[in-house]
Amino acid sequence: MLIIKTNLIPKRFDALALRWFILIRPEHAENEDLLAHEELHILQQRRDPLYFWKWLTNKRFRARIEAEAYRVQGLSHASIEHLLHERYDLTISEAREFTKYI
Ligand SMILES: [Zn+2]
Repeated sequence: MLIIKTNLIPKRFDALALRWFILIRPEHAENEDLLAHEELHILQQRRDPLYFWKWLTNKRFRARIEAEAYRVQGLSHASIEHLLHERYDLTISEAREFTKYI
């Protein structure tokens, strides 16, 4: 895995994991929690050959992998549920389904 400091990523991301690379904005490069989040996405990508297809086509898949990554990042279940509610258009009750087992 190679960590590349760059601003050449979409504006909505502070960092991005792509198979062997973590692209991270220079101002976040020392953020260990964010790096742990992205490293988990690398592992998720390695364990699921359909990861990118599912990521593009399945909102619930994205919510599930983000819930796992937020947890590794150290966020509480309540914070994760709030983020999933805001970013994935889920009710808090629906978001809670993704934090049950993490
Ligand atoms: Zn993520």
